[in-house]
Amino acid sequence: MRVRAGAVFRHPVPTRAGGGRRPVHSRRPRAGNVRCVIHVAEGLWQIPLAPRESVNAYLLGDVLVDAGTKGMGKKLPGRLSGRTVSAHALTHAHPDHAGGSKAVVDALGIPFFAPELDADDAAAGHAARQPEGTRLKGLRDAMGKFPAVNVARRLREGDEVGGFTVIDAPGHSPGQIAYWRESDRVLVCGDVWFGMDFKTFKPTVRAPFDMVTYDIPQNRRSMQKLIDLKPDVVCFGHGPVLRDASAKLRVV
Ligand SMILES: [Zn+2]
Repeated sequence: MRVRAGAVFRHPVPTRAGGGRRPVHSRRPRAGNVRCVIHVAEGLWQIPLAPRESVNAYLLGDVLVDAGTKGMGKKLPGRLSGRTVSAHALTHAHPDHAGGSKAVVDALGIPFFAPELDADDAAAGHAARQPEGTRLKGLRDAMGKFPAVNVARRLREGDEVGGFTVIDAPGHSPGQIAYWRESDRVLVCGDVWFGMDFKTFKPTVRAPFDMVTYDIPQNRRSMQKLIDLKPDVVCFGHGPVLRDASAKLRVV
């Protein structure tokens, strides 16, 4: 299904047996289902893509940021039902953020923006450069592939996207970026931190996994750079939204 860029994308209303119609979101969620779209702040919505908000996309104004894995991306257009989506942007080119990007831009007919230093990787359909020499490299390389997607715009620090400002925050990937809105101190930080513990699924603030972090000392410098912004609300690629964030963020 295609819609014009900038058009309101409407998911078709499914037809029930017996001819009655009801909107997708009138179904009662079952246990284990991901929650619907969550309003975070003015013009900002979290779109959980997996249970317990363990994988998230966000809508910044009319720009979708991140798209989960390939399988999650196929379901995303339906989750955006009735919302205006004019572009899709990434925090970084890893398969759990960019894997669904091609499905989304094809379905919605919208342009794709990638961080400048991760853009070639996103366009080639493989994870941004990874640390060398771990014994799991073969497995990691195999899991790092995702559908290639044309990059319409390469994002640099200072660019405006969906009412937010791009901030360079490299380390987890060479080109990772965050999105910052100073007026209400809201930060969408990608994977500079994880917002949950993947063993217990409890909310926390921790470093991303070493195995998939390109330059750990650089990522720590990016943590400090983002802490220095004094964010009040932080939105993670993995984990629930953190409020009163300034008191809770630390270099880890
Ligand atoms: Zn990542």
